[in-house]
Amino acid sequence: MFNEAIELIKHSRYVIAFTGAGISAESGIPTFRGPNGLWRRFRAEDLATPEAFARNPTLVWEWYKWRMKVISRAKPNAAHLALAKMEAAGILRAVITQNVDGLHTSAGSRNVIELHGNIWRIKCSNSICNFKSMLSEPPEEIPPKCPRCGSLLRPDVVWFGEPLPPEAWEKAVTEASRADLVIVIGTSGAVMPAALIPTITKDKGGKIIEINIGGSAITPIADVFIKCRASEALPKITEGLGL
Ligand code: NAD
Ligand code: ZN
Repeated sequence: MFNEAIELIKHSRYVIAFTGAGISAESGIPTFRGPNGLWRRFRAEDLATPEAFARNPTLVWEWYKWRMKVISRAKPNAAHLALAKMEAAGILRAVITQNVDGLHTSAGSRNVIELHGNIWRIKCSNSICNFKSMLSEPPEEIPPKCPRCGSLLRPDVVWFGEPLPPEAWEKAVTEASRADLVIVIGTSGAVMPAALIPTITKDKGGKIIEINIGGSAITPIADVFIKCRASEALPKITEGLGL
């Protein structure tokens, strides 16, 4: 399994990675699906929506405040670091992530495409006001208000039912079309359209290596499936590549 993956990487021309919440699970950040996926009695699907924010912005902000606290304590793990190493060695060209935690960048990856935004960026919920800002810690008072127009501020992340940021999506599609190998790590492949990324590479004749502790929606089209924790699998691969 590992040897097959290492050989595939060695013989590929343009390798990219596509990551999900599972790569950050071992940094202590809970995934949405699976154990520890619940916050109080709520499912993420019932909080990360424009409707939930319109109904109860304080509740949605309480959840984000909690997630920001968890993420601010988290450090990149061996899986994030291995990807950064592969990029520095010229083997990996891009990391396309669904994560909002910023850990790929902290690990040293440079060409990171964040499809679902970043939890530390906030924006005005009034679409005609363009106010955006970065936070370095969770806001004291919630829900925070826009200094420009007084409307509520919201996290600048993609909620269920919202379109992806067009620029990030276009970049991701370009990378996926160019790639002849995509390494898919820790994603259920359930969130559309992000989950289409590996199929774009595959449809162009490229290959898929998947690393996950269980099966996903992508497993049936994976050429090599490594059933393993990301922090264990990726260092084994970089070692096999002589890095
Ligand atoms: P998901 O929660 O739907 O699925 C997580 C996947 O990771 C599962 O397939 C699981 O088997 C796998 N996994 C768990 N631990 C693993 C490990 N140690 N090694 C390898 N695989 C492991 O995640 P998703 O597919 O990314 O979709 C959820 C959405 O939620 C994303 O769009 C993302 O924006 C958001 N989210 C982000 C974070 C974050 O930024 N860290 C955390 C939770 C959710
Ligand atoms: Zn505003």
